[in-house]
Amino acid sequence: MPELPEVETTRAGLAPHLEGRRVAGAVLRRPDLRWPIPDAIERVLPGQRIEAVRRRAKYLLIDTAAGSALLHLGMSGSLRVLPAQLPPRTHDHVDLILEEDARSPRQVLRFNDPRRFGCLLWQPHGEVHALLRGLGPEPLSDGFDGDYLFELSRGRKAPVKTFLMDQAVVVGVGNIYAAEALFAARISPLRAAGRVSRERYTALADAVKAILGHAIARGGTTLRDFISPDGAPGYFEQELSAYGRGGEPCPRCGRALKQASIGQRATVWCGHCQR
Ligand SMILES: [Zn+2]
Repeated sequence: MPELPEVETTRAGLAPHLEGRRVAGAVLRRPDLRWPIPDAIERVLPGQRIEAVRRRAKYLLIDTAAGSALLHLGMSGSLRVLPAQLPPRTHDHVDLILEEDARSPRQVLRFNDPRRFGCLLWQPHGEVHALLRGLGPEPLSDGFDGDYLFELSRGRKAPVKTFLMDQAVVVGVGNIYAAEALFAARISPLRAAGRVSRERYTALADAVKAILGHAIARGGTTLRDFISPDGAPGYFEQELSAYGRGGEPCPRCGRALKQASIGQRATVWCGHCQR
């Protein structure tokens, strides 16, 4: 599943190709992805000029004066800017046709999604889509820090890993990054969220920022099968300390890393270094 760094990499890769251009039309090869594609994509979006390509959590927003196309890559989605005459392949479900201009020929933004857990929705100007309501702060924003986590977690009995992965607490910290950040901050993923000190939450927030920032700087990705917008596969697991390494020696102390399921998600940690 694309995680926040992959989505941010996709955003950064697409923005220069989309911003300032006008949408000439939309081609829907099926009526739905995870959810039905709203009429506005065909009725309202064409003719609009793309003002910005933004990210909120793992959603991409293509902003126009009339509203925003809201995209999620789901489990397997990808977006490419391609020549309009290139025939669609299997699972190329949607094209947004980009008007040709002086600097670019006619192109399409093509959404491919084999498993169809992704979505393409519409957020009218001035509204906030239901999917974006109630989300916690962005992990790389100033609003996310140790004090924030400490105060929000008081009295919570859920494991700190589950707390950190709750989108109402902070967005975009998926299983991989939660495991890595807890390893870096030396906090056991099993510890009750309400029993982690302010100091340790500061270390955890710093670790989340450092790990996500590093992944974004490296061009995203932590997924074997993820392909960045320029077609290059991202880096992978040699940089991960804990995730996917159950039973292997801890990179810090050499003892075997433990593995268990927390909140139905595979979790790896060191029983010696993480308390
Ligand atoms: Zn260890």
